[in-house]
Amino acid sequence: MNNQTWVRRDLEVLWHPCSQMKDHEANMPLIPIKSGRGVWLEDFEGKRYLDAISSWWVNLFGHANPIINQAIKDQLDTLEHVILGGFTHEAAVLLAEKLVEITPPGLNKCFYADNGSSAIEVALKMSFHFWRNLGKTQKTKFITLENSYHGETLGALAVGDVALYKETYAPLLMEVITVPSPDCYHSEAGESWEAYSIRRFADMKQTLARHADQVCAVIVEPLVQCAGGMRMYHPAYLTMLREACNQYGVHLIADEIAVGFGRTGTLFACEQASISPDFLCLSKGLSGGYLPLSAVLTTDTVYRAFYDDYQNLTAFLHSHSYTGNALACRAALATIGIFQEQDVIGNNRRLAAAMAKAVERFQDHPNVAEVRQTGMMMAIELVKNKSTREAYPWQQRRGLKVYRHALSQGVLLRPLGNVIYFMPPYVITEKEIELMAEVAWQGIQLAVRD
Ligand SMILES: *Cc1c(COP(=O)(O)O)cnc(C)c1O
Repeated sequence: MNNQTWVRRDLEVLWHPCSQMKDHEANMPLIPIKSGRGVWLEDFEGKRYLDAISSWWVNLFGHANPIINQAIKDQLDTLEHVILGGFTHEAAVLLAEKLVEITPPGLNKCFYADNGSSAIEVALKMSFHFWRNLGKTQKTKFITLENSYHGETLGALAVGDVALYKETYAPLLMEVITVPSPDCYHSEAGESWEAYSIRRFADMKQTLARHADQVCAVIVEPLVQCAGGMRMYHPAYLTMLREACNQYGVHLIADEIAVGFGRTGTLFACEQASISPDFLCLSKGLSGGYLPLSAVLTTDTVYRAFYDDYQNLTAFLHSHSYTGNALACRAALATIGIFQEQDVIGNNRRLAAAMAKAVERFQDHPNVAEVRQTGMMMAIELVKNKSTREAYPWQQRRGLKVYRHALSQGVLLRPLGNVIYFMPPYVITEKEIELMAEVAWQGIQLAVRD
């Protein structure tokens, strides 16, 4: 069957995520994918697309990666899944051991869930419940940064701050304390990222000083606010935040669902600030982009506050049916195995430099306000007016023009509003990076035309 047939059948029965379905009838035709290999996706008529966004930031080592494929096949013939309540299995144990080993020091316990938003729910509930078990029942609030994103379930949505996703549901959401972001897009001309992020910390410090007795935790996306437009900040902010959380008796939740596993130039973004959070949320790249899986790593201190005789009712009774799925754990083990057997971080440094080189000329474009990069994440922010940084009205959907042009040229970019970004799998070549950048450049030229 050809593309058209699949699109027609799809639109009869399927409702797609993050989409105005009407768009798919004209503006944004659906692309049916038949197969994938490496950074390439292929449709039913043989047209290929370079997956420059790692299929929503999940894929690390390419589609149909032979190592991960084999690991899943082996597991499939042994055990596909088993209830993790009261039971355990090899892959779940090995993966928990491995995560404890490779994550920042002090994170010694691993709690599984089956997607990123659920991991956030787990961390929020665990933090609240920890304080409750200690008798600190007045701690019921969370501090979050402006422009942050932590997922779409109600708890995760509440601690996020992207209006497009959140506003409609505001009446359903718990109240949070929102603090200005260290996002360096807003730094003064000539001010370094470090200076700006440090300056911004004053707001956080003040908020902690004022509200600490009601606050369970501060939740952040370390270094890059991804869904919020790939906005970036300096690790100094995280170092200061860790200290302040200790000082004020508040947990720190690091949401590394998007930035974990080598995206920022280190295995975990927290490493760049030399900190360990109280909760580390992982998903997306955790399984190499193969299967839904997430994990929340936490400390012995947190674990011990729940550990008691059953009758005292202090246990953490949260669960998801597919928690610790064996196939997903095996995919994750194979993914981490690749990090341990190959110099992925070193190779990414080379690729990141190639990405920087490929977009050198973008900086001077009259409609580019900023080109920013953290490791394997590169973002180009389009504006109507470069000197005032006046944004294009969102109704004009300039990014969509880039999306459509890129697809016509065989590259999958999926701009966030007016922010074009690259977040490719780590198996991309320098030649493919050049293609990705060239197509983005052409797309920008088209998008800024009136
Ligand atoms: C994607 C994402 C989530 C949510 O993960 P899902 O698996 O989509 O629910 C949470 N936090 C961050 C930072 C993310 O990028």
